[in-house]
Amino acid sequence: MGDRILITNIQRFSLHDGPGIRTTVFCKGCSLRCPWCANPENLEPYPEEYIKDGRPGKYGRYLPCEELFDEVMKDEIFYRQRGQGTGLEALPGGVAFSGGESLLQADRLEPVWRELKEKDVHLCAETCLFLPVDMLALALRYIDLFYVDIKILDAERCKNIIHGDLKQYLTNIDILFRESKQTVFRIPVIGAYTDDEKNCRRIIDLLKKYKPLKVDLMKEHNLGQSKYLSLGKEPPELHMVTDAFMERYKRDIEETTGIPTEICRV
Ligand code: SF4
Repeated sequence: MGDRILITNIQRFSLHDGPGIRTTVFCKGCSLRCPWCANPENLEPYPEEYIKDGRPGKYGRYLPCEELFDEVMKDEIFYRQRGQGTGLEALPGGVAFSGGESLLQADRLEPVWRELKEKDVHLCAETCLFLPVDMLALALRYIDLFYVDIKILDAERCKNIIHGDLKQYLTNIDILFRESKQTVFRIPVIGAYTDDEKNCRRIIDLLKKYKPLKVDLMKEHNLGQSKYLSLGKEPPELHMVTDAFMERYKRDIEETTGIPTEICRV
């Protein structure tokens, strides 16, 4: 395991990054630039200086694969516990990879994933899926459960607003489902960006086509204000959607697709 992974944080005992108790590795670097991003420190693929409360610091450090493996295996005891019920709840805990876009470092993460699978650790990845096919192909060999964002499904708006190539995203979705990978879709519901009627319809059509295990409707609260300021950047100004809108959207998805849908406030 010779490579080094660029990370910003390892968060222990997380209950929101997959089934069971998870240790989440936040990788630095992202292929998109969503205007509502709550993790501005995870966008650039290099360490960045910041100043917070008058004190300097650095977002990002390179961790050798061996060290990353040792760090996450400290929590191994929690990875064996399974929840009650069926479906996702019955899965064990494990390690989650988040970001930024962790799969952009798939070639460097591969040795860590391989060793973790040899120890039978359950692996999740949160991904926007705007990434080269070869990176996804690597992840498919090791990741057990994917949390995939659905953001904007109009090619022009996708390019203009989040700087993504929709064709690449849709190709990757096809690949993921062809491999029958367990997948949860996550939909950030952001006023004026993702909540218009046309986009919601397109999203529901996509859900009908692929039938993921579950849908998480994400109502953004934490916009990472202090992190933007620490980097000398203006925090985004967003229009929040109402709770009534979220409830309607959830009902609409469940009635049209039959897929269990949860409203998550992050
Ligand atoms: S994909 Fe996620 S991390 Fe990347 S810019 Fe969008 S919200 Fe931020």
